[in-house]
Amino acid sequence: KLGQVQRSMASVCLYIGLQDTAENLALPKTNFWIYPGPDYRGQVEDFLADPDNRDIPLTYISFPSAKDPSFTERYPGRATIEIVAPGPFQWYQQWADKPWGKRGEDYEAKKDAYAQRLLKKLYEKMPHLRGKVDYYELSTPLSTDYFCRYSSGEIYGLDHTPQRFEQDWLKPKTRLPGLYLTGQDIMTCGVVGAMIGGLLTTVAVSGLKGLPLAKKMFVG
Ligand SMILES: Cc1cc2nc3c(=O)[nH]c(=O)nc-3n(C[C@H](O)[C@H](O)[C@H](O)COP(=O)(O)OP(=O)(O)OC[C@H]3O[C@@H](n4cnc5c(N)ncnc54)[C@H](O)[C@@H]3O)c2cc1C
Repeated sequence: KLGQVQRSMASVCLYIGLQDTAENLALPKTNFWIYPGPDYRGQVEDFLADPDNRDIPLTYISFPSAKDPSFTERYPGRATIEIVAPGPFQWYQQWADKPWGKRGEDYEAKKDAYAQRLLKKLYEKMPHLRGKVDYYELSTPLSTDYFCRYSSGEIYGLDHTPQRFEQDWLKPKTRLPGLYLTGQDIMTCGVVGAMIGGLLTTVAVSGLKGLPLAKKMFVG
């Protein structure tokens, strides 16, 4: 039945380490969503057709250490940044059969070229971070497959098309006794979608016994 639904677009993620605290570096507790213009769909199409010469249609920058009150205690004098951007699986497919960490210099060079573009996006918004980055590493759709088992490197599981929401089997209870589904694919994408999916499955498994939990989550 998975053949009836598409998978969401794959992504790359740049993990950045910095030699100072989030506070000293004035890293915000919010996220940046950077679009080059209002025609998102057109910009995605242009980028996919000519990725080296077209602007990245969406750059998401997040500052995890700034949001974590215990981070500085655990990692004094350090901060982290995460940048997510589109990265189709096909761009990396030729290395898919090579082992993680040993995919060769050409793969590393391709990764670094994209990493530099993403760092440039970061410095455009926060020029004071130049010279502060002491580590960065780009994950590709192959990493998302290797570590999380998303076979096309899709960041958000199933794509959010009308067909996906018409699938009556994408719900906690399946026709097989004792087999339940959960997570983002029975709800909507992202951490919050996965959390609500988890709650729905808990209620489906535990029946009426799960209702107090649902009440606690939504009413308090
Ligand atoms: C780099 C990156 C950054 C992201 N940033 C954000 C963000 O800022 N905000 C946000 O809302 N979302 C973000 N997401 C998306 C978010 O991670 C997912 O939406 C969320 O994790 C989905 O939760 P889930 O429980 O449905 O699935 P998952 O978290 O993917 O959990 C599924 C689990 O099942 C395991 N598994 C798979 N197949 C098997 C198998 N055959 N046997 C045993 N175990 C298996 C996997 O290893 C995994 O642990 C990001 C994703 C990535 C990759």
